[in-house]
Amino acid sequence: MYKMENDNISAPPSQLETIKTNSNYLRGTITESLNNPLTGALYEQDQVLIKFHGTYQQQDRDLDDERKRQKLEPLYSFLIRVRVPAGITTPAQWLALDGLADKYADKTLKLTTRQAFQFHGVLKRKLKTTIQEINKTLLDTIAACGDVNRNVMSSANPYESPVHSEVAKDARRISAHLTPQTAAYHEIWLDGKLVEGGEKEEEPLYGKTYLPRKFKTAIAIPPRNDTDVLSNDLGFIAIVENGQLSGYNVTVGGGMAYTFGINTTYPRVADVMGYIPKEKIVDTSEAVLVFQRDHGNRSDRKNARLKYTLDRLGHDFFHAELKRTHNILLEAAKPYEFTSMGDQFGWSQSRDGLWHCTIFVEGGKLADRNGYPAKTAIREVAKIHTGSFILTGNQNLVIAQVPKELKPKIVNILKKHNVADNNLSQLRKNSIACAALPLCGLAFAEAERYLPSLVDKLDKVLEANNLQNEPITIRMTGCPNGCGRPFLAEIGLVGRAPGKYNLYLGASFVGERLNKLYKEMLSEEGIIAALTPILEDFSTNRDLNERFGNFVIRRGYVKAVEEGKKFHE
Ligand code: SF4
Repeated sequence: MYKMENDNISAPPSQLETIKTNSNYLRGTITESLNNPLTGALYEQDQVLIKFHGTYQQQDRDLDDERKRQKLEPLYSFLIRVRVPAGITTPAQWLALDGLADKYADKTLKLTTRQAFQFHGVLKRKLKTTIQEINKTLLDTIAACGDVNRNVMSSANPYESPVHSEVAKDARRISAHLTPQTAAYHEIWLDGKLVEGGEKEEEPLYGKTYLPRKFKTAIAIPPRNDTDVLSNDLGFIAIVENGQLSGYNVTVGGGMAYTFGINTTYPRVADVMGYIPKEKIVDTSEAVLVFQRDHGNRSDRKNARLKYTLDRLGHDFFHAELKRTHNILLEAAKPYEFTSMGDQFGWSQSRDGLWHCTIFVEGGKLADRNGYPAKTAIREVAKIHTGSFILTGNQNLVIAQVPKELKPKIVNILKKHNVADNNLSQLRKNSIACAALPLCGLAFAEAERYLPSLVDKLDKVLEANNLQNEPITIRMTGCPNGCGRPFLAEIGLVGRAPGKYNLYLGASFVGERLNKLYKEMLSEEGIIAALTPILEDFSTNRDLNERFGNFVIRRGYVKAVEEGKKFHE
């Protein structure tokens, strides 16, 4: 019987806890599964364990019926997520990843909302080779998924100022410190030698059962909240005093997912718990992770994220534990202000004279589509680029550190490939979509493949109301797991069934307030019919500079959600 200290959870651990415990630090029978030629799938327990290695088993749901008719097993393939702390890669790494997408995956690169790359559609027989080749680029996939600390996010451009650069380094330090230590990754994927007596090997921080659930960390530098810092289990808000980074406000307990019909699950915006001097950022990260490791719910995965642990045990207990385990004492939080969540598109110059160009990537999908060969364009840029590429938390891309001599050449490449189109609507530029169908097994509805055409239609409504230049955030996901952070969008759309979405309204423009369910099970017609009169009203009756998310609350369309626990009220 599993009994946690301080919290009265006495239910047995979930089946997944048993799989982790018995896995010999994430080895399981993955090697055997990979070598089984009779199926394109892995054994069930290994499907759980490979997430910790940065890959998910998926199946192409578009082909399910046809394959069934032909008496074939589903077309299994794998998503591989490449961990990129702070989202920074070199042109050489870009070219290598671009080539791998063509060679082993579906010829696209997905830029995720957590500044990582995803390959989709990798077959089992190519999985090991692909992961090996990713590691040759000096990037890896370990801990990109699973019950561990995931990719650490940081404000998009580290070259913008010395403070941005310092913050990006802190993101990398946290990432390195919280990465699992098991040698299983090297043994399985990189043909490392089996560790003698593997059972005795230790994970000093995580132990045998790792964390109760995934753990997400991000840093933001006000006034931009481009990492959606409050949606993370653990966040840091940079505090700059006299032009210098002094420290961070620590935020805890954010998370987007909930389960339809289970009101004990809810999205939650993190609480700002206090301030630490910058030297304590790694220690504090460890202390918060240890708090969740020791007190998170290991019986019910739907209530296992840190947000629930914090709501169950309270702030006083949290502070006491940080003091007891790591002697961390949070000072009173310092003032800060966010003014946006989105990216600043186009060219900008930093004080060192270098140029940076932020490019919109619809749905984070870099592909060569008719009239929009974005993947080719960035490959051509990478061939001559001497700086770096940075993935943003909004699924976009910064071509960073461009010397002035090179800028005209890059401008030409982008123009030739129709990529730097600044005529896109503000709604589109502030849109995010998760991957959803056909490969995500949890998706109830389309997201990435559908949102662009819905935005086309909503753009017409906005134009008719002179709102085409109004930045409104819109996010769509295929289910309420929240990969695209839909509950922090002014217009949130979450898939309920094929072609049917719940519509959520009323989040703040800067990521500090959740939205609220407005209408359920809407078709495209229903979405447009629901939004049109509200947008007309907004156009006519908004206050000066009033944001759409605030307007819908002032006019009574939805109630403001003051805290996650009240999301369903
Ligand atoms: Fe899949 Fe849901 Fe995540 Fe979208 S939000 S990628 S549908 S799990």
